[in-house]
Amino acid sequence: MDYKILIIKSSGWIFLLLTALLTAPVVFAQAGDKIVIAHRAASGYLMEHNLPSVALAVAMGSDYIEQDLVMTKDDQVIVLHDPTLDRVTNVAELFPGRARQDGKFYALDFTLAEIKQLHLKEPYPNSGRFPDTNTNLQLAVPTFKEELELIRGLEKTMRKDIGIYPEIKQPWLHRKEGKDISMAVLKILREYGFTGKEDKIYLQCFDPDELKRIHDELMPALQMELKLIQLIDDNNGNETKSLQWGEWVNYNYDWISSKSGLRTLSAYISGIGMDKSMLVDEAGNLLRPELVSDAHSLGMVVHPYTFRREKESLPPYAASFEALLEFFYFKVGVDGVFTDYCGDAVFFLQKRSAAPAPATVPASSETLPAQPTAPEAPQPPAAPLAVPVSRPDLTPSSAPVPVAEPPAPMITPEPAQAPTLDPAPAPAPVPEAAGEAAPDRVQPAAPASAPLEVKYQ
Ligand code: CA
Repeated sequence: MDYKILIIKSSGWIFLLLTALLTAPVVFAQAGDKIVIAHRAASGYLMEHNLPSVALAVAMGSDYIEQDLVMTKDDQVIVLHDPTLDRVTNVAELFPGRARQDGKFYALDFTLAEIKQLHLKEPYPNSGRFPDTNTNLQLAVPTFKEELELIRGLEKTMRKDIGIYPEIKQPWLHRKEGKDISMAVLKILREYGFTGKEDKIYLQCFDPDELKRIHDELMPALQMELKLIQLIDDNNGNETKSLQWGEWVNYNYDWISSKSGLRTLSAYISGIGMDKSMLVDEAGNLLRPELVSDAHSLGMVVHPYTFRREKESLPPYAASFEALLEFFYFKVGVDGVFTDYCGDAVFFLQKRSAAPAPATVPASSETLPAQPTAPEAPQPPAAPLAVPVSRPDLTPSSAPVPVAEPPAPMITPEPAQAPTLDPAPAPAPVPEAAGEAAPDRVQPAAPASAPLEVKYQ
């Protein structure tokens, strides 16, 4: 496939539009109903949440593109993962003195015009991702409307439906500032024609009470009926808080994972999402063996996060990114994954569809879930993607690697060996340096690969 890059410079900032010129048919994720969700767009290839990254994720054949949404001081909805601007922009350089007492620069304290002056930077320096020395690139924080405009345009020119997967971030924090982010997001979605269950959109949020409000009050008032996804945090995260006796306390999600909790949810929720470590422990054992099948029996999909190909991000039981995908898609039985490497995941599913089904998991792997493999229709061989999906990791790693990764093509399904239960000494845990608790700390430049966040939706 031949990609051409059109660079348009206009009024001080660069809009880089990636257009896939197709010498081969457009390729899309496939393998039954399994889907690929581009986590923060094509964030593993071209930084998170910017318009070129969205175009790239679309061109790579992602089924859904994720947008994290927060609001500005002047009530605009922008695509930004954190409520703060520090981690991914040069805000501290441009607007010194505008941080709050906690030292962070909140998007809620800046107008859209101010935020548009900022330039994005790769949040994981020296990680092997897009070069963080991109000062001339000048990518900007997109608004939600800009992103939808781009996606609707590409839908027309590429003649396909492109799924979107917006997340309403921290309604409690916005409410503290007098802002109703859910209403603002729904109005924009309606403006761009996302109104019904048949539309290719999942609307996600960590806040169970807010999702109930969206379903019971907001969507009926706007004559909308979108598919909703309940994200499940661990109880130490900051995603959802409520004011109790004058103090902001974390939401307790324990009730949701029970069958009765899932049944309650299923009355108005189309699916659930959670960190993959909430489903499988470090040894590859299922922590809640019945959770996925329970959700399916109640008509809900399961979309865990976040799948990354860097060696530091692979759990000990997965020898490669492809082994990890094989395990979750076809053994744990999830319906889709959020991944920074949407192109690799799309290619994996295409190869998986074209290949014969792997052999039955041997008895020695009794810790693996015995979930049925999705039926597969024979597919023609996939057209190669423009992005190399099997290149060796260029990043030198100082962290111990649990299982040597063969330089051979990674795409070959690793049939019967699903999780690599590693008898060797356990590797050092991946530091959760940029977890939800401290998302915006500038990571020190490391000589080797910088640690990537783990539990960070
Ligand atoms: Ca998210």
